[in-house]
Amino acid sequence: MSHPSLRAVLGTLAPYRPSAGLHGPAATTRPLSANESPHTPLPGVVEAVARAGATVNRYPDPGCGPLIRALARVHGTTEDRIAVGAGSLALLQALFQSVADPGAEAVHAWPSFEVYPTLAALAGVESVQVPLTDQTHDLRAMADRISPRTRLVIVCNPNNPTGTLVAHDELRAFLTLVPPTCLVAVDEAYHEYARGPAPSTALDLCAGHPNLVVLRTFSKAYGLAGLRTGYLVGDASVVGELRKACLPYAVSTVAQHAAVAALGLADQLLRRVDSTVAERTRVRDALLRQGWDVPDSRTNFLWLPLGPLAADFGTWCARRDIAVRAFPGLGVRVSVGAAEDDDHFLAAAGAWRSARPTATPGTGQTRQFRTTAEAS
Ligand SMILES: *Cc1c(COP(=O)(O)O)cnc(C)c1O
Repeated sequence: MSHPSLRAVLGTLAPYRPSAGLHGPAATTRPLSANESPHTPLPGVVEAVARAGATVNRYPDPGCGPLIRALARVHGTTEDRIAVGAGSLALLQALFQSVADPGAEAVHAWPSFEVYPTLAALAGVESVQVPLTDQTHDLRAMADRISPRTRLVIVCNPNNPTGTLVAHDELRAFLTLVPPTCLVAVDEAYHEYARGPAPSTALDLCAGHPNLVVLRTFSKAYGLAGLRTGYLVGDASVVGELRKACLPYAVSTVAQHAAVAALGLADQLLRRVDSTVAERTRVRDALLRQGWDVPDSRTNFLWLPLGPLAADFGTWCARRDIAVRAFPGLGVRVSVGAAEDDDHFLAAAGAWRSARPTATPGTGQTRQFRTTAEAS
């Protein structure tokens, strides 16, 4: 039997695999692999979802009018500077497709958000991956890799999967090194968890840099991962073009109304973020006491730079019904979840260290693993 000819690039891509057990009939697995909010939606959000549900015989508002108006108010900007998409993933896809002339390259760090190379490949853009230094973006090295072919630079800040934050003044200096013809996207999916004295968003830099767009999502701190809503902010003429690269009607009425409701309940939702940030400190401190090497995280997850032992630890957790995200050869990312789930994870982590005495600190092994991760 002959098969239809599909693009060869599809043969190079692995299917997206969520962690085992999460979506099966007996979903007993502790969900610490996807950086979701552990909190169920606030009553006001559930009510908005139910109300919108009664109208789904109609197409959604393709312009996302009320949501864009609400976002413009929140950010003190104009509606023409905001685009909404079916998750920030859809907006990232639109970014890649919008720069995908033949020979185009996109520069991003590695390890960083795992979908960047896939979206690049699908769009026919070359993904140029710049290794992290000390688990953090090396902006100097990234600037060095910008060539006349570079059409897009992505800075995931804070970075997924390492949780580290690039300082605002470093980002500001970096932007002056990027040619104004090259688009820069700062992916701030975890912005709400960054919490610190210095500014942790690039939004204020948009005014001086029309080539800068900032991505945000309702999937993490706003707790709407299941509804798929994200947005970006940038220069009005760039945003106008990017909107054309998004599928019409992609953001459902239910998602739009829930996002407006969530914005209205931001105070309560951000108090939940406070508790996640406190829980992050508790879990990290416990891991440090167990002897783990854990970079300081500005997100709702922690990174364990295990190098060659990452897959082993991922399997260890899966056998105990704990879903974490293992990046073979690099490390394991574990979400900060409900305290009970985190306690199970901490018990599994402690047991793993006892079972793998060569991975204990003082042997120089964790340092060696980190070097391996950076080299790959
Ligand atoms: C979770 C995440 C997103 C959000 O994706 P959505 O499509 O909005 O759910 C975007 N960027 C990064 C780095 C993420 O980790």
